[in-house]
Amino acid sequence: MTKILLIAEHDGSTINPATAKCVTCAAEIPDAEIHVAVLADGGDSLAGEVARLSSVDKVLQLDNPANAYPVAAVLAPQIAALAEGYSHVFGPSTTFGKDLMPRVAALLGVNQISDIMTVLGSHSFERPIYAVNSIVTVEAPADQPVVATVRIASYASAAEGGSASIEAASVDAEIPGHTRFIELQSGKTDRPDLQTAAKVVSGGRALGSSENFDIIYALAEALGAGVGASRAAVDAGYVPNEMQVGQTGKIIAPDLYIAIGISGAIQHLTGIKDAGTIVAINKDEEAPIFEVADIGLVGDLFTIVPELEAAIKG
Ligand SMILES: Cc1cc2nc3c(=O)[nH]c(=O)nc-3n(C[C@H](O)[C@H](O)[C@H](O)COP(=O)(O)OP(=O)(O)OC[C@H]3O[C@@H](n4cnc5c(N)ncnc54)[C@H](O)[C@@H]3O)c2cc1C
Repeated sequence: MTKILLIAEHDGSTINPATAKCVTCAAEIPDAEIHVAVLADGGDSLAGEVARLSSVDKVLQLDNPANAYPVAAVLAPQIAALAEGYSHVFGPSTTFGKDLMPRVAALLGVNQISDIMTVLGSHSFERPIYAVNSIVTVEAPADQPVVATVRIASYASAAEGGSASIEAASVDAEIPGHTRFIELQSGKTDRPDLQTAAKVVSGGRALGSSENFDIIYALAEALGAGVGASRAAVDAGYVPNEMQVGQTGKIIAPDLYIAIGISGAIQHLTGIKDAGTIVAINKDEEAPIFEVADIGLVGDLFTIVPELEAAIKG
């Protein structure tokens, strides 16, 4: 029997949607028994949320004051101890998972498989390389635990409707004192998370300033969308780099992606390959973004975007 330990991502109060996407990936592994570990400080409601995901067989709740914040150095030794008896340990390839899972792999003495996009068998997976321009098949050794991150843009969320059992778990792991949580600094926003939003509006270099970027925020607000940006907009200082979409930014798969004043460089397109409908607004009708766009609007963004926002608001 294949036993998969999946690490839930959360912010202390809600489970990140990336977790439900990892469950879908794990469920593709034949005969898999899926256990999800929730490492938190008082994780009752988090564990309950995970237990409702279909395909989850058991939730392991590891409560510890040290787990109040997702510090990879603190979580990894606990996960490595918990992994005893499991054939697979999966996490999302979000910032959380990319920080955590290599440490888990190192502690278990195995190589990590990154960005699983297709399950071919219990130890055989496809993953993208060269900015998703090539797909490679990776065969993992059958006599070692498979530690992997899941490319969440490749998977839909597992449905609700499950009723997994919840078990309090404890591990004998030394929690290091060399790394500890001091403070979380993040921009306060009510907008949906860029990586999991169903709709995303992104702005590029053409916005020209951080003040001008306000029209992107206004449109996003009208649509209830997350906000992204090209690297050029980030490098120019219009927005923080956590908003960058693309090869060296976030890989996203919204149902609707609106690219505004973005040329469509290959490194940007890498980040939106799995998007549903792509809308592009650009004054240059030859811009490469129009080659991938489902709907293209040729014109000045400073005219089109406020008009769009007004039309949406009715
Ligand atoms: C290793 C590497 C990694 C990279 N990673 C990323 C990444 O992760 N994400 C990313 O985005 N880029 C990445 N890049 C950079 C990428 O190559 C491009 O330089 C970048 O995406 C360009 O951003 P842009 O489209 O905003 O700017 P530009 O290419 O300058 O395009 C601006 C566009 O705005 C249009 N425009 C101008 N004024 C208006 C107007 N008034 N109304 C409407 N349209 C207008 C122009 O016609 C043009 O098409 C990477 C590059 C390298 C080498």
